Amino acid sequence: MRTTLIAGNWKMNGSLQSVIELVEAIKAGDVNNAQLAVCPPAIYLMKVGGMLEGSRIALGAQNVCDQESGAFTGEIAASMLKECGCQYAIVGHSERRALYQETDELVARRFAMALSSGITPILCIGESLDERESGDTEVVVSRQLDAVIESQGISAIAQCVIAYEPVWAIGTGKVATPEQAQAVHQYLRDKLASLDALVAEQVQILYGGSMNASNAGELLSQPDIDGGLIGGASLKAADFIAIGQSV
Ligand code: PEP
Repeated sequence: MRTTLIAGNWKMNGSLQSVIELVEAIKAGDVNNAQLAVCPPAIYLMKVGGMLEGSRIALGAQNVCDQESGAFTGEIAASMLKECGCQYAIVGHSERRALYQETDELVARRFAMALSSGITPILCIGESLDERESGDTEVVVSRQLDAVIESQGISAIAQCVIAYEPVWAIGTGKVATPEQAQAVHQYLRDKLASLDALVAEQVQILYGGSMNASNAGELLSQPDIDGGLIGGASLKAADFIAIGQSV
């Protein structure tokens, strides 16, 4: 039985004060049927990690370096994220892939580094609008997933969370319909099942892309959607909590 994960990706938003207020408000929310996680900007991880101690809310990072340590200016090692209390690290977010030219291979190395430090990678995959309109959605998400499976093995997928995030739905207000999202989630699970039925059955596959309090209930009731990766709506505690409560 898969549990539901609702993870907030705060991206590069907020200030120390607003982050403190957001964490306090989320902690006060009453969410019983889902695991909540928040991914603040890296500079606030230590602070938020301290505030979440003793709560049921997990901490996640928005990225992780593909190297263990050394001369990698601006990067953050998985071991450091672990010290801050991170349980999750997002890898391969479409903004990282598009704006910082992260390749499938680099994403796979970041994934591996998270796992080796005991951090659960949240592996983001998803097609652009052009790719969807050319009928290439399955080819693209397969390629992105295969880069990890080929380098880390199918067993690594059992230790991660997959987030299907159609790029055209991220931050655009253009949410995938429940049927569109379910179709890709089912495709991914069937693909995994052809390699390892147990891994396919167990792995959580989240949907991400303009999920909010009004559309979450229907998306989350789809059989292969096991939660959400939430951007914009995770910045308002009431909306984030409402998504958690819609499970
Ligand atoms: C995201 O960036 O992962 C995301 C899903 O953003 P939004 O919810 O704002 O579309």
